[in-house]
Amino acid sequence: MEKEILQLGNPRLYEISRPVERTELSQMSSLIQDLHDTLLAFRKQFHAGRAIAAPQIGIQKRILYMNIDKEVVFINPVLSFSDEAMMEVLDDCMSFPNLLVKVMRHKRCRIDYLDLEWKECSMELAGDLSELLQHEYDHLDGILATMRAINNQAFFIKR
Ligand SMILES: [Zn+2]
Repeated sequence: MEKEILQLGNPRLYEISRPVERTELSQMSSLIQDLHDTLLAFRKQFHAGRAIAAPQIGIQKRILYMNIDKEVVFINPVLSFSDEAMMEVLDDCMSFPNLLVKVMRHKRCRIDYLDLEWKECSMELAGDLSELLQHEYDHLDGILATMRAINNQAFFIKR
């Protein structure tokens, strides 16, 4: 079911999400369906949106849902960086669809996570996918791109 996406300023977006317990896996399918439906509805309206974090629909659990050419569910993800190479990017967010924020992100990252079978998985990411996962991961820690703005002139209204 399509859910309301919490918008910038909603205090729940600043909360730290809780890890998922293995026993919760059985109740996961309706949440994943909600994330899917919400992302696709957003995409239809804004022609953007590749991933969503559970806290954006008010579920404070450490779950990311990505839908690009296939769907990937990241449970209890952990990000790590093998080097310090950074890039400046303009971030947008489904919680503030008309705003762009200039932030610095790692060019490369690795994400370790559990899948829906509770199997340990990992992915190495570079470029815009690295940016995307760093952005989504931040949502689990209550961090929005606005809080990573490189300075106080880093905000742009989308046209
Ligand atoms: Zn976001």
